[in-house]
Amino acid sequence: MRTYDVLIIGAGPIGMACAIEAKNAGLSYVIVEKGALVNSLYNYPVFMTFFSTSQRLEIGDVPFVSINPKPNRNEAVEYYRRVAEKFSLNIHLFERVDKVSKGMDGKFMVETSKTSYDAKHVIIATGFYDIPLMMNIPGETFPKVTHYYKDPHLYAFQNVVVIGANNSAIDAALETYRKGAKVTLVIRRGEIGSYVKYWVRPDIENRIKEGEITAHFNSEVLSIDTNQVTIRTPEGEQTIDNDFVIAMTGYQPDFGMLKKLGVEMGDGTQPFYDPETMESNLPGLYLAGVVCGGMDTHKWFIENSRVHAEQIFAHIAAQS
Ligand SMILES: Cc1cc2nc3c(=O)[nH]c(=O)nc-3n(C[C@H](O)[C@H](O)[C@H](O)COP(=O)(O)OP(=O)(O)OC[C@H]3O[C@@H](n4cnc5c(N)ncnc54)[C@H](O)[C@@H]3O)c2cc1C
Repeated sequence: MRTYDVLIIGAGPIGMACAIEAKNAGLSYVIVEKGALVNSLYNYPVFMTFFSTSQRLEIGDVPFVSINPKPNRNEAVEYYRRVAEKFSLNIHLFERVDKVSKGMDGKFMVETSKTSYDAKHVIIATGFYDIPLMMNIPGETFPKVTHYYKDPHLYAFQNVVVIGANNSAIDAALETYRKGAKVTLVIRRGEIGSYVKYWVRPDIENRIKEGEITAHFNSEVLSIDTNQVTIRTPEGEQTIDNDFVIAMTGYQPDFGMLKKLGVEMGDGTQPFYDPETMESNLPGLYLAGVVCGGMDTHKWFIENSRVHAEQIFAHIAAQS
């Protein structure tokens, strides 16, 4: 079996940035990705606009040209595909990493859904978008409930409950409202989230003020039924007609997988890594990208975690 210098788990923007560094350093590498290229971005809402400017999403010094200051999801998917082509990145798509173990010889053995690999170094760049934070309420698993909002057209002329206060929820509420949905927004806290894009905030505030979108603050959904939803509000419980629930309650990294890979988890939700080198507790096993934040999914973004790739390869170079 061939031994790679580096095996990267996840072909998101940061896994790709790591592959480019490996290639530039003359190391052999492979990215193993369980879905499509940039699978998280592929699954984002089709009309999503990034809060970052296109320059801040660039990897490998390849210019990301967008006509607008903030690019959208479709432009980003196209950009990263072109980057993969430009560098002829060695990516194995639709292949899931299931297990990583370290042998007596210091090499990693990586088992996937298709085969196995040997590698001297492994980088975990698995993001946080695969596991939604569940509310654990009755009806949450009905087909009319989604944790991955995609396209507003589906909701035209329907009664839609949107749960959440951050960008994903606010975008979903505004887009579906504009396609003719009757939207009720349910927010646990007393206000719209502080991370909401600055150009979107006045829009949602005005729609709520004008009564075009109903918002229940300090409220939570208690249960979901086939045709109704029950909400606890400061004024008491309310049951409203409902066709679809868009639950934008957030996501979390796959902590089970990280533990299985041997990464120390501190309090159980924060993977250990050295912030200088990005090396985990296991020598040769690194973390990169948004997975590093653990439950704090608002700490790392593409724009501030691109640098992890350089840190990791500086450390690998220093050792050889
Ligand atoms: C709606 C939304 C909007 C965002 N907007 C911005 C923005 O404007 N600017 C910004 O900087 N950041 C933004 N982010 C945050 C973050 O930057 C992105 O989530 C980005 O995709 C993170 O890159 P990553 O490479 O670390 O992880 P990801 O892009 O999530 O890539 C991880 C990859 O690992 C794969 N994977 C997972 N487990 C396995 C396994 N066991 N085997 C093989 N492959 C596996 C996944 O399929 C995925 O393709 C946004 C996030 C969301 C959810």
